[in-house]
Amino acid sequence: MDRVEVAVIGGGQSGLSAAYSLLEEGLRPVILEASERAVGSWPQYYDSLTLFSPARYSSLPGVSFGGDLDRYPHRG
Ligand SMILES: Cc1cc2nc3c(=O)[nH]c(=O)nc-3n(C[C@H](O)[C@H](O)[C@H](O)COP(=O)(O)OP(=O)(O)OC[C@H]3O[C@@H](n4cnc5c(N)ncnc54)[C@H](O)[C@@H]3O)c2cc1C
Repeated sequence: MDRVEVAVIGGGQSGLSAAYSLLEEGLRPVILEASERAVGSWPQYYDSLTLFSPARYSSLPGVSFGGDLDRYPHRG
C-alpha cells in the first residue's frame, strides 16, 4: 500500500463522519473497513431494528436522511 496521510479504522457512522471532516480540512483519508461495505454495524442486527433517535439526529454530515426528519428510521 502507498503511504497515506490519515487512516480511519472502521467505515461506520463514526469513521465516515471523521473522514468527511478530514476531507473538509483538505486531507485525503483512507478508510480501512473490515467488512465488504462501509455501512457500520446496523445491517448485522435484527430485521425489525428501529432507531431510537429521529432522522434529524441520525444523518451523516453531507448526507441527510431526507423526508420526514421526525420519523424513526428502520435498520435499512
Ligand atoms: C440495537 C441498537 C440500536 C441502536 N440505535 C441507535 C439509535 O437509534 N441512534 C443512535 O444514535 N445510535 C444507536 N445505536 C448505537 C449505534 O450503533 C451507534 O450510534 C453507531 O452505530 C456507532 O457507529 P460507529 O461507526 O461508531 O460503530 P459501528 O457502526 O459499529 O461501525 C464500526 C465499523 O468499524 C468496522 N471495524 C471494527 N473494527 C475494525 C478493524 N479493526 N478494522 C477495520 N474495520 C473495523 C466494523 O466492521 C464497522 O463497520 C444503536 C445500537 C444498537 C446495538
